[in-house]
Amino acid sequence: MQNYSRYASMNQERQQQINRSLVINLLRQEKLCSRADLAKLSGLKRATITNIINEFMEYDLVVEEGILDGAKGRRSIGIRINGQKYRTIGVMITRQYYSIGMLGLSGEVYKTRTYQIEQGRKPDRVIEEMKNSIQRMISEEQGSQVLAMGIAVPGPYERCGDKMIFVTNLEGWDGIEIAMYMKRDFDIPVFVENDANAGACAQLWFRKGQLGQQNLVYVVAGQGIGCGIILSGELQKGSIGISGEIGHTSIDYQGPECECGNRGCLEKYCSSIAIMNYVRERLKKGESSMLNMDSDFSDFKEAVRAGDTLAKEEYRKACEFLAVGVVNLINQINPGTVVIGDVLTEVEPEMLLEVVRERIKKTVRPMIWRYLTIELNQLEYNPIMIGAGVIAAQEVFENPISYMEK
Ligand SMILES: [Zn+2]
Repeated sequence: MQNYSRYASMNQERQQQINRSLVINLLRQEKLCSRADLAKLSGLKRATITNIINEFMEYDLVVEEGILDGAKGRRSIGIRINGQKYRTIGVMITRQYYSIGMLGLSGEVYKTRTYQIEQGRKPDRVIEEMKNSIQRMISEEQGSQVLAMGIAVPGPYERCGDKMIFVTNLEGWDGIEIAMYMKRDFDIPVFVENDANAGACAQLWFRKGQLGQQNLVYVVAGQGIGCGIILSGELQKGSIGISGEIGHTSIDYQGPECECGNRGCLEKYCSSIAIMNYVRERLKKGESSMLNMDSDFSDFKEAVRAGDTLAKEEYRKACEFLAVGVVNLINQINPGTVVIGDVLTEVEPEMLLEVVRERIKKTVRPMIWRYLTIELNQLEYNPIMIGAGVIAAQEVFENPISYMEK
């Protein structure tokens, strides 16, 4: 008869990993808990919680803090994650700049810096500079250990090949294996995710526990249009990791050709790049505006706010188009919450929200509208950068102590 005891011990070890992961994630979420709270929330026995907490304390992962009032007047010691000891790095790459954040295990931002990407600069040069900037930030962080790095990239990220694929308006980055570049120089796990997916994870993370938030989409309306989809609390990645590319869903099959091969892609109508193209077309025709052919999107933002007619018209039109795309998304996946973020929402947030809400209300079934919340990103720091760090922490905490130093 075969000896199964080896499997029994493997299962036991796996079960311990799951329990540790559950407890650490509860602490990341709840911030401060007693051992009794953890037992109640996790469904684990008190003795198991005590063992796990002892183990975490050996690694300085958690510390005791204060006395909490519990049920029946019982008082107990609070446990929280040791914010001083462990960090993650969250990196957000856009078509024009990249941001690096030194983050806590619960997504708190300790430090963040942004660097411009010079136009036409080769990806390997940019990545080299990025590595130096990350190295500098890590070396400034005395007394703490960086556990993992999360990188959010614009455009789709192909999970199987571990590489970026077709990023519109970012030349030379197709096929870049960014995780491999990073792993060469950093002795920590590196996780790469598409920007909208990372943003959606951050939105979910800061809303956990709120009902109706488990089916959420985060729409990134910037130089490209994309979205991260969370269903039943889980990020939906798709078979090769490129779900949520609403920027390349067509809203006019006879519309302009897109680099992706499709026609009339949403992105061609309401990304910040598309808006500036429309503005330039109208200026070429001699229409008057405070904008000129060299104006960029921040000039456009100023012009809308200053009441420039042409700019305001183009902004309203882009908001309408965005709403058309969001309606398609709503009808496909029936989310409870749609959060919209990135540069488009920063121009005139109230106007965007009003136009988008009105259009959606008019074009979806009343029942859908009744159970739908449409809002703008409320996070203080960029959700994509935070999300990159949140993903890194989540991945590491699948098996917490294997990455830590005693
Ligand atoms: Zn397209």
